[in-house]
Amino acid sequence: MKKVIVAGAGIWGCTLARRLAEAGREVLVLEKRPSIGGNARCAVDPETGVEIHLYGSHIFHTHDAAVWKFARRFTEFNGYQHKVLVKRGGKVYHLPLGLTLVNKFFGVELAPPDLEAFLTEERRAEIFDAFFRGYTGKQWGRPPESVDPSVIRRVPTRANYDTNYFNDLWQGIPADGYGRLFERLLDHPAISVECNRAFSLKNAAEFSGSVSDVFYSGPIDELFSYKFGALPWRSLRFETETIAVADFQGTSVVNYADAEVPFTRIHEFKHYHPEGRLKASGAVSEGRDWGWASGKTVVTREYPVQWRIGDEPYYPVNDGESARLFARYREEVAAVNGGFAADGMRLTVGGRLGGYRYFDMDQAMADALQTEIGTEGATRP
Ligand code: UDP
Repeated sequence: MKKVIVAGAGIWGCTLARRLAEAGREVLVLEKRPSIGGNARCAVDPETGVEIHLYGSHIFHTHDAAVWKFARRFTEFNGYQHKVLVKRGGKVYHLPLGLTLVNKFFGVELAPPDLEAFLTEERRAEIFDAFFRGYTGKQWGRPPESVDPSVIRRVPTRANYDTNYFNDLWQGIPADGYGRLFERLLDHPAISVECNRAFSLKNAAEFSGSVSDVFYSGPIDELFSYKFGALPWRSLRFETETIAVADFQGTSVVNYADAEVPFTRIHEFKHYHPEGRLKASGAVSEGRDWGWASGKTVVTREYPVQWRIGDEPYYPVNDGESARLFARYREEVAAVNGGFAADGMRLTVGGRLGGYRYFDMDQAMADALQTEIGTEGATRP
């Protein structure tokens, strides 16, 4: 039976690899980086025991029951609930846009029924200017008016005191770390993994005859050597340091809304494992302390940067122009499949980078769970 190649070992690729293996296929995972996990990859710092999110904070959250069920086959989740604070003009507020923020910002004490009438156009604009204009300008390198409104709408609006950053039913951090989640996803006798090996269309010929499908989740423009030009991406630069204090900012993420502050946020990763604090204090005897016993902390400052070919792409910049360019690359996928058909091969491109979509982890997993893997695959010669 022919093999399947999964190129890219992020959430999308690892989920597909697992599904394919469980459907009876032999899967070769190719990952161009030295390790699996894509941009959700974390590493436990040997000095402190803190789990560092190497590409910025990743919190697993979903209201998709199928995703939640699938993910929990491979990890338990701790009880972490994500809260985001935002610093602006020397004061700290709780996101999202709700009573806690509005009451502090305007110095009032509104109850839920008062909020709608209180938030006049003018006051909404004041809030937008204070908390979204500077941050969005830094994050996207363009005026907020030209950013797709769905991006800013990711931050919920609520008429209550709920400061949970997500509206999802379920959330948490893998209880024994992100690394184990990815390892378990790929831990199947029918899956083999080769890191430091990139897939490209130039080397696709070597698989002809032995491979039926390629599932690729790298950047779609890179796959085609940027032949129509690069898609616009936004990149990030991280500055990480270990500090000799037990707790630097008292929470996992603080956003910096002022335009003058060059970074957008500071991540303090040990807060993603509140159970580690209980372990360090002796309140529980099981599990790791996740850095809480070290007396030190690890923080990362996040700086958005203009992406250039060769940089890591993090965010698609979705607008009309990029949608047109993406559509041209999608046509190329169809053209490749025209050629591949003679060899009995098929190319599927997806994931955050392949699909050029602002996916959260659960959306990437949902997409991989729904991607057509070909029921004929198992019997295709
Ligand atoms: N945003 C903002 N101020 C904030 C938080 C978010 O202006 O304090 C805007 C910004 O444009 C950002 C978008 O809302 O890109 C989505 O925020 P989210 O926290 O979901 O971004 P992510 O964690 O995916 O980078």
